[in-house]
Amino acid sequence: MTSNKAGKLSLRYVGKSYDVDGRELKVLDNVDLTIAPGEFTSIVGPSGCGKSTLLRLIVGLDDDYEGDIQLDDERIVGTSLKRGIVFQDHRLLPWLTLERNIELGLENSDVPKAARREAVAGLLDLVGLKGFETVYPYQLSGGMAQRAAIARGLVTKPEVLLLDEPLGALDALTRQRLQEELLTIWEAEQVTMVLVTHDVEEAIYLSNRVIVMHPNPGRIAADIAIDLPYPRDRASEEFAHMRRTVLDAMGASTLKIIPRRAKPAPVVDAGVAIGRI
Ligand code: ADP
Ligand code: MG
Repeated sequence: MTSNKAGKLSLRYVGKSYDVDGRELKVLDNVDLTIAPGEFTSIVGPSGCGKSTLLRLIVGLDDDYEGDIQLDDERIVGTSLKRGIVFQDHRLLPWLTLERNIELGLENSDVPKAARREAVAGLLDLVGLKGFETVYPYQLSGGMAQRAAIARGLVTKPEVLLLDEPLGALDALTRQRLQEELLTIWEAEQVTMVLVTHDVEEAIYLSNRVIVMHPNPGRIAADIAIDLPYPRDRASEEFAHMRRTVLDAMGASTLKIIPRRAKPAPVVDAGVAIGRI
């Protein structure tokens, strides 16, 4: 899916180092990537390969890097309402109602009060939290809190929504529900989505494109187009093929191969045989 809206991201030879105990630790090296407006891109890779660092640079929380990052052909400087971010933990303020938490995203904007209310109501509806306007974060399940965090990320009508493992702490069923909702939101808001996830299946289910990163230093190892039509069938052969392709690019495929026995094991002892099933 593409849109006519703005939201093109260009990363040109992006490098990032941290100073760790006086030594330079290179975390990102030569990350070169263009993301089209309205594209849904996922980034996968092992812990520590620089995924969160990359999102921090794109959202504008850190200007100390090599290379260039642009949104719609303008260099990104500092944070902006054009770029929203959602983290693994919801980061809602415990002393504010859901409605107020989401509205907070508009604090530094010139959107008038009535329009704010309307925007918040529309988003709560979009993420399935209509009727929960006045509850507090502690009254929400993990999935509901993440929905609220996604609504907060969208309230400024960003061109780009950055998602740093937003579903990582949820149980499998809630996670699948929220995946459906991310697709609904993507379609409704026509926003450029950049999702960091550990879950290869999630990346393939949701995105147009999967970027595979390798660590030490973090770099792009593969850029894989996912051309399957939506809604996607996780049980299809094409899906399995894409999963294999991504896992191969991660260098993880050998971990997933379950060796087949050449011939059935002889049944010597019933207890042992059952133990092998
Ligand atoms: P990922 O999100 O892929 O797990 P991160 O971007 O969080 O990876 O981290 C990449 C690397 O940078 C890791 O080795 C991490 O320890 C290091 N790192 C992250 N933030 C800092 C920091 N503020 N200071 C020093 N090192 C950091
Ligand atoms: Mg991370």
